[in-house]
Amino acid sequence: MEYVRGRKDDQPSRAGDEGTFSGRAMLDPVLDDGAVAKVRVNSVIFEPGGRTYWHSHADGQVLIVASGRGMVENRDGDRHGLQAGDMVWAPPGEEHWHGAAPHSFLAHTAVSLGFTQWAEEVPDERYQAAFGEE
Ligand code: MN
Repeated sequence: MEYVRGRKDDQPSRAGDEGTFSGRAMLDPVLDDGAVAKVRVNSVIFEPGGRTYWHSHADGQVLIVASGRGMVENRDGDRHGLQAGDMVWAPPGEEHWHGAAPHSFLAHTAVSLGFTQWAEEVPDERYQAAFGEE
Protein backbone atom coordinates (compact mmCIF):
# COMPACT_ATOMS: atom_id res chain seq x y z
CA MET A 1 0.00 0.00 0.00
CA GLU A 2 1.10 3.51 -0.68
CA TYR A 3 -0.49 6.55 0.91
CA VAL A 4 -0.05 9.84 -0.93
CA ARG A 5 -1.02 13.19 0.54
CA GLY A 6 -3.19 14.73 -2.16
CA ARG A 7 -2.08 18.30 -1.73
CA LYS A 8 1.44 18.95 -0.58
CA ASP A 9 1.72 22.14 1.42
CA ASP A 10 4.99 23.19 -0.20
CA GLN A 11 3.99 22.37 -3.75
CA PRO A 12 2.75 25.31 -5.80
CA SER A 13 0.21 24.87 -8.56
CA ARG A 14 1.91 25.10 -11.91
CA ALA A 15 0.80 26.40 -15.27
CA GLY A 16 0.39 23.99 -18.15
CA ASP A 17 3.53 23.76 -20.22
CA GLU A 18 3.92 25.98 -23.24
CA GLY A 19 3.42 23.92 -26.36
CA THR A 20 0.95 21.56 -24.74
CA PHE A 21 -1.94 23.83 -23.72
CA SER A 22 -3.87 26.62 -25.41
CA GLY A 23 -5.14 29.28 -23.06
CA ARG A 24 -4.50 28.90 -19.38
CA ALA A 25 -4.52 25.70 -17.39
CA MET A 26 -3.33 25.20 -13.83
CA LEU A 27 -2.16 21.81 -12.58
CA ASP A 28 -1.74 20.37 -9.12
CA PRO A 29 0.26 17.18 -9.27
CA VAL A 30 -1.39 14.74 -6.88
CA LEU A 31 0.72 11.75 -7.80
CA ASP A 32 3.70 11.85 -10.11
CA ASP A 33 6.11 9.32 -11.54
CA GLY A 34 8.08 9.02 -8.37
CA ALA A 35 5.34 7.49 -6.26
CA VAL A 36 3.77 4.82 -8.43
CA ALA A 37 5.45 3.80 -11.67
CA LYS A 38 3.68 4.87 -14.85
CA VAL A 39 0.71 6.46 -13.07
CA ARG A 40 0.36 10.22 -12.84
CA VAL A 41 -2.60 12.00 -11.28
CA ASN A 42 -3.17 15.71 -11.78
CA SER A 43 -5.94 18.04 -10.71
CA VAL A 44 -6.39 20.42 -13.62
CA ILE A 45 -8.37 23.62 -14.02
CA PHE A 46 -8.84 25.11 -17.47
CA GLU A 47 -9.96 28.69 -17.85
CA PRO A 48 -12.78 29.29 -20.35
CA GLY A 49 -11.39 28.49 -23.80
CA GLY A 50 -8.38 26.68 -22.31
CA ARG A 51 -7.58 23.24 -23.69
CA THR A 52 -4.86 20.73 -24.35
CA TYR A 53 -3.05 20.25 -27.62
CA TRP A 54 -3.75 16.99 -29.44
CA HIS A 55 -2.07 14.19 -27.53
CA SER A 56 -2.26 10.54 -26.59
CA HIS A 57 -1.33 8.44 -23.58
CA ALA A 58 0.73 5.30 -24.08
CA ASP A 59 -1.39 3.27 -21.66
CA GLY A 60 -4.54 5.37 -21.65
CA GLN A 61 -6.09 8.00 -19.41
CA VAL A 62 -9.07 8.39 -17.13
CA LEU A 63 -10.65 11.83 -16.76
CA ILE A 64 -13.00 12.51 -13.87
CA VAL A 65 -14.84 15.80 -14.14
CA ALA A 66 -15.20 17.71 -10.89
CA SER A 67 -16.99 20.87 -12.01
CA GLY A 68 -17.50 23.35 -14.80
CA ARG A 69 -18.17 22.51 -18.42
CA GLY A 70 -15.95 21.30 -21.21
CA MET A 71 -15.34 18.86 -24.02
CA VAL A 72 -13.29 15.85 -24.99
CA GLU A 73 -12.83 14.90 -28.65
CA ASN A 74 -10.75 12.42 -30.62
CA ARG A 75 -9.36 12.71 -34.17
CA ASP A 76 -12.43 11.01 -35.62
CA GLY A 77 -14.68 13.73 -34.24
CA ASP A 78 -16.11 11.52 -31.50
CA ARG A 79 -16.78 14.14 -28.85
CA HIS A 80 -18.64 14.55 -25.60
CA GLY A 81 -19.61 17.58 -23.56
CA LEU A 82 -18.28 17.32 -20.02
CA GLN A 83 -19.83 18.28 -16.72
CA ALA A 84 -19.56 17.33 -13.06
CA GLY A 85 -19.48 13.60 -12.43
CA ASP A 86 -18.64 12.60 -16.00
CA MET A 87 -15.86 10.13 -16.60
CA VAL A 88 -13.87 9.48 -19.77
CA TRP A 89 -11.57 6.61 -20.73
CA ALA A 90 -9.11 7.53 -23.48
CA PRO A 91 -7.69 4.25 -24.79
CA PRO A 92 -3.94 3.75 -25.23
CA GLY A 93 -2.57 5.71 -28.15
CA GLU A 94 -5.86 7.39 -29.12
CA GLU A 95 -5.22 11.02 -29.98
CA HIS A 96 -7.60 13.47 -28.32
CA TRP A 97 -7.89 16.83 -26.65
CA HIS A 98 -9.82 18.00 -23.60
CA GLY A 99 -10.59 21.40 -22.19
CA ALA A 100 -13.05 24.00 -21.00
CA ALA A 101 -16.08 25.37 -22.81
CA PRO A 102 -15.77 28.85 -24.30
CA HIS A 103 -17.74 30.42 -21.45
CA SER A 104 -17.03 28.09 -18.53
CA PHE A 105 -14.02 26.80 -16.68
CA LEU A 106 -13.46 23.04 -16.41
CA ALA A 107 -11.97 21.21 -13.44
CA HIS A 108 -11.03 17.56 -13.83
CA THR A 109 -8.78 14.95 -12.34
CA ALA A 110 -6.60 13.26 -14.93
CA VAL A 111 -5.18 9.80 -14.26
CA SER A 112 -2.57 9.37 -16.96
CA LEU A 113 -0.97 6.01 -17.66
CA GLY A 114 2.37 5.85 -19.38
CA PHE A 115 4.09 8.39 -21.58
CA THR A 116 2.13 11.34 -23.01
CA GLN A 117 2.82 11.97 -26.69
CA TRP A 118 2.07 15.57 -27.66
CA ALA A 119 1.09 16.73 -31.15
CA GLU A 120 -0.09 20.05 -32.60
CA GLU A 121 -2.45 22.67 -31.23
CA VAL A 122 -6.21 22.27 -31.67
CA PRO A 123 -7.10 25.06 -34.12
CA ASP A 124 -9.68 27.61 -33.02
CA GLU A 125 -11.99 26.50 -35.86
CA ARG A 126 -11.99 22.92 -34.65
CA TYR A 127 -12.49 23.98 -31.04
CA GLN A 128 -15.36 26.31 -31.90
CA ALA A 129 -16.97 23.68 -34.12
CA ALA A 130 -17.02 21.29 -31.17
CA PHE A 131 -19.24 23.75 -29.29
CA GLY A 132 -21.44 24.73 -32.19
CA GLU A 133 -22.42 28.37 -32.10
CA GLU A 134 -21.88 28.78 -28.37
MN1 MN B 1 -5.57 13.33 -22.33
